[in-house]
Amino acid sequence: MIAEVIINSSVKTLNRTFDYEIPENLDVHIGTRVFVPFSRKKELEEGIVVGIKETSEFKVKEIAGLQEEQINEDYIELAKWMSHRYFCNISDCLKLMLPPGRTSKNILNRVKEKRVNLVTLAKDEDEILQDIESGIIKSEKQKRVLEFLINNGNATISDIELFTDASSSIVKTLIKNNYLEQNSTQIERNPFLNRKIVKTVDLELTDEQKIAYNNIKEDGKYLLYGITGSGKTEIYLRLIGKMLKQNKSSIMLVPEISLTPQTVDRFISRFGEKHIAVLHSKLSIGERYDEWNKIKSGEAKIIIGARSAIFSPAVNLGLIIIDEEHDESYQSEMTPRYDAREVAEYISEKKHIPLILGSATPDMNTFYKAKEGDYQLLTLSKRANNSKLPTVEIVDLREELANGNKSMISKKLYEEIRKNIDNKKQTILYLNRRGFSTFVMCRDCGYTVKCKRCNITLTYHKYTHKLKCHYCGYEQDEVTECPECKSKNIRYFGSGTQKLEEEINKLFPEATTIRMDIDTVSKKNSHEQILSKFRDENIDILIGTQMVVKGHHFPNVTLVGVIAADGSLNIGDFRANEKTFQILTQVAGRAGREKDEGRVIIQTYNPDNYAIEFSKSQDYDLLYDTEIDIRKQLKYPPFCDIILIDMSAKNLKELKDVSKKVHAYLKDRVINERFGVLLYSPVPSPIDKIKDRYRMRIIIKCKYDDRINNLLNDCMQEFYKMKTYTSRMAIELNPNNML
Ligand code: ADP
Ligand code: ZN
Ligand code: ZN
Repeated sequence: MIAEVIINSSVKTLNRTFDYEIPENLDVHIGTRVFVPFSRKKELEEGIVVGIKETSEFKVKEIAGLQEEQINEDYIELAKWMSHRYFCNISDCLKLMLPPGRTSKNILNRVKEKRVNLVTLAKDEDEILQDIESGIIKSEKQKRVLEFLINNGNATISDIELFTDASSSIVKTLIKNNYLEQNSTQIERNPFLNRKIVKTVDLELTDEQKIAYNNIKEDGKYLLYGITGSGKTEIYLRLIGKMLKQNKSSIMLVPEISLTPQTVDRFISRFGEKHIAVLHSKLSIGERYDEWNKIKSGEAKIIIGARSAIFSPAVNLGLIIIDEEHDESYQSEMTPRYDAREVAEYISEKKHIPLILGSATPDMNTFYKAKEGDYQLLTLSKRANNSKLPTVEIVDLREELANGNKSMISKKLYEEIRKNIDNKKQTILYLNRRGFSTFVMCRDCGYTVKCKRCNITLTYHKYTHKLKCHYCGYEQDEVTECPECKSKNIRYFGSGTQKLEEEINKLFPEATTIRMDIDTVSKKNSHEQILSKFRDENIDILIGTQMVVKGHHFPNVTLVGVIAADGSLNIGDFRANEKTFQILTQVAGRAGREKDEGRVIIQTYNPDNYAIEFSKSQDYDLLYDTEIDIRKQLKYPPFCDIILIDMSAKNLKELKDVSKKVHAYLKDRVINERFGVLLYSPVPSPIDKIKDRYRMRIIIKCKYDDRINNLLNDCMQEFYKMKTYTSRMAIELNPNNML
């Protein structure tokens, strides 16, 4: 017999099958992972069998051996579908379904080991950072190792070698110089260890919840549309419980950022930790491997995870839930650029199991589908525990300015914060810009300081006195003199969370504050640490970016302030209004979740914008009706699809040539084959350079279907045939990020 094998490689020309003879002594079927000889290479290549047939037209070699873990045949089909749907290699998709640590055999053997030598820091972090800054530690590799451990806590020497490219002798030198230490430790890889969780039972469902729950059948797609606190999670718990009784697994996806212990606890307290597996990006390879096994063995029947958990090897899958389905994190921005909601739809249709999408502010496209009958709409219009929705007030910052208030805090917000401090209630302030000042400009010649590698302004970070690029991480010292005209008249404009915190500390010196943004949560776990500190120590004010918005439940928070609602309005995206409304509704949902009524103050320069106006009443239906008309007129999704062909190269001339060729190819076919689409000419992307790569794009507006999918796949193949040197191309359908 002959096996059709996909070689585990992202090289585009290898996106096809190769035939191999199956030796008689090997048990090989679809989904078996194999080692095969390939071209003239000495080492064997890894591959996956995706088909079996009687004979081959070629002279073929034999499969050399088998790898341990196999892939379910269903998933091979899924990978093939994804490869076509997302314009990428099958092996790119299969990677998502392989056990963690799959990249090399060594890693796989190592992660099974539970007793390891762990290297940790032997000195205080600050002390080490100081030694790096003052030049006591000069070697780049030593710096890299230390920074790696500051960020990851502990690691084995081989992990360190793998991730930092520093040899073990570097680690040993650092141990000798008392920066690091090494201990043999039994690693207990149980993420829930030492947590005391009180057992809970099913709540008596409200009438609305009952109707929704009873409407969910064995099969089908549902949109559970319920305001924040309406009891969506309680319904998920019920459904998962029902599956458990039938010995079936459930996958529940949540946005990465809301995957906190608090979220998971609610499930553990209902079902016990034995049945639960949690998958997210902060887990170590070993932890991920353990969770994966717990799922694969069928022990864990409740899988809670971020986007990629949709590919976990659930046994006897009976239910998929996607909470906060409008969240952008469900769309991958790396190859394969899949949308977890679409993958979930595919799986639920193939397996005939229910798919539940839940949200208080559904994606406009999902809501449209529900109205069209593709999804069954289930509505929860009241809060389950009878707490009231917060009152929302909008403050016009233009008036504030006219009245001479130049600070970031309006008079109204100031008074409300004051009240909260006096009453020992907590406040959350939301500002979606981190750092201190958002751009730095010379007042004499107008020069702005931009990243050397990306065409984007650098943000000033006051505590480190650095200018940072929020795209690539590039960092440089602050400037005091204009590099263009030598003027010393340098001004810092705009404001981020650091500046906000400073202002709050000046306005309310007696109040305690804590800040949460990428800069403060870069260490493992500290996202959760900040939140527990805020809750447990009753800190007066939490200041943060997007991270503070998602799904947290703080009983004592009664005031939420949005410092600048306009931030997401000017993002050059047709979804700007939808996104603004979603964020405002979500952040408002943090206030007054228990008996005390919540207040929300939204500051804005655009009080007349309808997304901002409707967030006052948190009326999604009104937003939907208004927005859908505009979409229809302007031919945006869901009435029309947008295809973004994203091209980049290190050399601008090369990029221009390539994009012209791609455009010419498409134009030819569109005209000759009468596609009836709107094909635009190549233009520079809104951010036209990132990490030293120039960027251009071609946009197509169309009604997406199989024919267009084929055209785009052909176009991708055409691109690979071109002599392109440094160019890359990616195709996305209705991407979340239009920049
Ligand atoms: P959502 O997921 O829609 O935000 P939750 O399920 O978290 O809503 O419910 C919000 C609050 O209401 C929680 O404190 C929850 O315990 C409570 N709750 C939910 N359903 C019920 C119910 N049927 N009876 C009483 N309280 C409920
Ligand atoms: Zn200047
Ligand atoms: Zn940059």
